[in-house]
Amino acid sequence: MHEQKSAQKTKLIWVLKALSILLIAASVISVMIAYSRSKKDAVVAFLDVGQGDAIYIRSSDTDILIDGGATADVIEKLSKEMPFFDKTIELMVMTHADADHAVGLVEVMKRYEVLKVIESGITCHKELCQEWERIIDEKGIDREFVYAGKEYVLPEGRLTVVHPIVSHAGMTVDDMNEASVVTCLTLRGKSFLLTGDLGVENERKLVEQDNGGLCMDALALKAGHHGSKHSSSEEIIEYTNPEYTIISAGKDNSFGHPHYEVITRFSEYTIPLIETAKSGTIRFVLAEDGSYEIKTDR
Ligand SMILES: [Zn+2]
Repeated sequence: MHEQKSAQKTKLIWVLKALSILLIAASVISVMIAYSRSKKDAVVAFLDVGQGDAIYIRSSDTDILIDGGATADVIEKLSKEMPFFDKTIELMVMTHADADHAVGLVEVMKRYEVLKVIESGITCHKELCQEWERIIDEKGIDREFVYAGKEYVLPEGRLTVVHPIVSHAGMTVDDMNEASVVTCLTLRGKSFLLTGDLGVENERKLVEQDNGGLCMDALALKAGHHGSKHSSSEEIIEYTNPEYTIISAGKDNSFGHPHYEVITRFSEYTIPLIETAKSGTIRFVLAEDGSYEIKTDR
């Protein structure tokens, strides 16, 4: 009698074990399905990295990161946007080597496999630039110096460099903001002008050159230099005629970004502003049929 009970108990334990294995397998499969579905989305996410810029783009299974903010916070933000099994960034863009754009990129290079980096190539002796170059060398990352006209084909669009207008490789500049690598992203028929910290004078030159042609009637313009009054000229606003403007800046930052003048300017054009400081990460999720959704943290 006692042996029979013990045999029944053993059987029950095995049944329970088998059931729990099945449950784990089912949940793993459902997570995989969820990710393979989400992989089909095209996403442009303005990551909430405080005072700085970090823009993550996914087109099918290609991942792009433009700037990385001033800290390692970008790692956690990226992990929320990318599938957990994907640790490869196909293309990384450093708009310029200021800390609020490039420190996070260095952190990403340490932890992710980065296949290619692009930058203007201006001469930089900062410690940050030395670290950037050291990691690129150590990991054997493909590095390219770019200027207007360079294009990268994505599964469902392209990333076109529109600034600097001429090559700046090996040049020394007084103000790195003005040598920002500016790109026009087109994805599933929508376009985004990503301006780094470019100022008004070069925005005007960009418009004169008509290099941003692909970004006319943009879905979104990332306001230059975190909404500084020295960026977001009327010329660039009218040229890109965006449906939305994104301001990537930290809450209560010491620079007073975004400046009152810029907020007023966009409101005169009745262009809505979306700020990372207020909304957290701002995602444009682009569907195959040309529709889109904006999803923010708050
Ligand atoms: Zn900046």
